Amino acid sequence: MDTNLLEIGGAAEERKMKASDYAGPTARWCPGCGDFSILATTRRLLEAEQLMPEKTVFVSGIGCSSRFPHYLKTYGFHGIHGRALPLALGVKLRRPDLNVFVVMGDGDCTSIGAGHWIHALRYNAKMTVLLLDNNIYGLTKKQSSPTTPINYVSNTQPQGSYLEPLHPISVALGVANASFVAQTADWIPAHLLATMRLAQQHKGLSFIRILQRCPKWTPDIMDAKVKKPDEIQVLVHEDGIRDPKVEKMYKHCLEHDPSNIDRARELTGPSEFTRIGLFYRNENLGVYDEIRRSQSFTAEEKLSALEQEFDRYAI
Ligand code: SF4
Repeated sequence: MDTNLLEIGGAAEERKMKASDYAGPTARWCPGCGDFSILATTRRLLEAEQLMPEKTVFVSGIGCSSRFPHYLKTYGFHGIHGRALPLALGVKLRRPDLNVFVVMGDGDCTSIGAGHWIHALRYNAKMTVLLLDNNIYGLTKKQSSPTTPINYVSNTQPQGSYLEPLHPISVALGVANASFVAQTADWIPAHLLATMRLAQQHKGLSFIRILQRCPKWTPDIMDAKVKKPDEIQVLVHEDGIRDPKVEKMYKHCLEHDPSNIDRARELTGPSEFTRIGLFYRNENLGVYDEIRRSQSFTAEEKLSALEQEFDRYAI
């Protein structure tokens, strides 16, 4: 929780933020888009954790979901395609006191940004990374992305997507030093909020894949999951996510200890279920920004060394 004292007339008063205090301009997504639910839940998270707007920054790439920073009254950086993670890492290294969030779509993160994604997972810097996965490039009007299901018709593959989709959870669990991997869905806000809270409290990089409805281009993909709750399996554990309301709604729940990486990987294999929950968490892995801070020069020392070096060439 951030320091939240506000000076009013010379006296310090405790500031209590409400979800509505984080609301920016009216969001412009298609009616029924899952991004609305994720945005509303994010505001609830900011309230629940009392993250101060001036201490919080949302960094995004390009895509429908990347409009996120515009709709929140925090700091924000609407970056370039596939580059949200290195931008966010730069912010975190320079300002370790900030709460850093990254918002990306599936094309943004798992295609053009895939190299950055892999290395960010390994670097394990303290930030919360949200992959809003609607299985398509939405903003550019229905092109296949790496997570588009095989045989799914798109504007770039009108005879159906050629290949098996990439599974973001499976990929993340294969990266050395990845320390928090979870999956949730935009239409289960209680589960989404519980996952985001756990992620925000995590010591290193937390990666959450959020299954996201896109009624414009892929309505059938997520609708099938929304309308058939029996095809969802909720991973539950006392060290993971436990929400009695969610467990009441979904009859298939599976006890899974999130410290068990081998079991987590098994759970990403072929199944009749779509699984949501915390797959893996390890608080004992190396955190890049912490290690770097403890072993290297401060930003001020680096700047001073650079200036001294430039002075050598000054005429
Ligand atoms: Fe949402 Fe899809 Fe519309 Fe983009 S195209 S705003 S993802 S519904």
